Amino acid sequence: MSAIDNLPPLRDVIATHGLTAKKALGQNFLLDLNLTAKIARIAGDLSGADVLEVGPGPGGLTRGLLAEGARRVVAVEKDARCIPALEQIAAAYPGRLEVIHGDALALDWDDHLTPPVKIVANLPYNVGTELLVRWLTPEAWPPRWTSLTLMFQREVAERIVAQPGGKAYGRLAILAQWRATTRIAMTLPPEAFTPPPKVRSAVVQIEALPEPRYPADPKVLSRVVAAAFNQRRKMLRASLRGLSPDIEDRLREAGIAPTDRAEDIPIEAFCALARLLA
Ligand code: SAM
Repeated sequence: MSAIDNLPPLRDVIATHGLTAKKALGQNFLLDLNLTAKIARIAGDLSGADVLEVGPGPGGLTRGLLAEGARRVVAVEKDARCIPALEQIAAAYPGRLEVIHGDALALDWDDHLTPPVKIVANLPYNVGTELLVRWLTPEAWPPRWTSLTLMFQREVAERIVAQPGGKAYGRLAILAQWRATTRIAMTLPPEAFTPPPKVRSAVVQIEALPEPRYPADPKVLSRVVAAAFNQRRKMLRASLRGLSPDIEDRLREAGIAPTDRAEDIPIEAFCALARLLA
């Protein structure tokens, strides 16, 4: 019996189901259920929400979410070896856990979840970043989720919450902060995971705003920001030359000096420029 439920400790689950971590699947497991319950609490009150958990593995975070009162959890796991362990959790929480064996990158979760939806994940970092960008870039806002609680490599977490004026500030900060609030809620040393990864990790909490902070067409803004940070050390009049023949005038109209560099420009000014280029 574990600290938070009547299920076996995770080390026993891993031994019983032969879940030795596979590097190719980015498997670094959280085995401390007090820690996973703490991560679940970062997502806020779960009693009135469906939770999409991506990459549950042996189910440590899944158990944290259920023990913390999630109305329902839908857990999508790519590794078939983990499914029986997850089904055991589903049996202990009747009607509250749906386990899907599949690739989160290919899943259309509309039919599985009822709003409000919170997304929680401790994913391999490459998959996590790709999903984050997808979740942040729907055409319509608000999105289908109300919050994202995601584990990242510490450096990526810092890029999500970064402010203008530093190396960490870029496309990820602008995509996230234009339409959501962001904060690093917890940092974790490598030893928190089994096996320990090489890098430090952090949990980022992202809450969708009801509407974007400043008006802009998402596609135009994406194009402007991608071009600006593609050559981040160049002056904007050079990096954005391809976007308009009168780019220097448009930059000035948006309140940006043509000699400025992308990393010093606040989101508001990027949005003003996107409106002028739309
Ligand atoms: N959430 C568990 C924990 O905290 O202990 C496992 C974390 S481990 C870092 C990442 C998990 O994501 C692994 O179980 C892995 O098999 C799974 N995974 C990797 N790529 C995936 C994908 N594309 N779709 C769904 N799950 C994936």
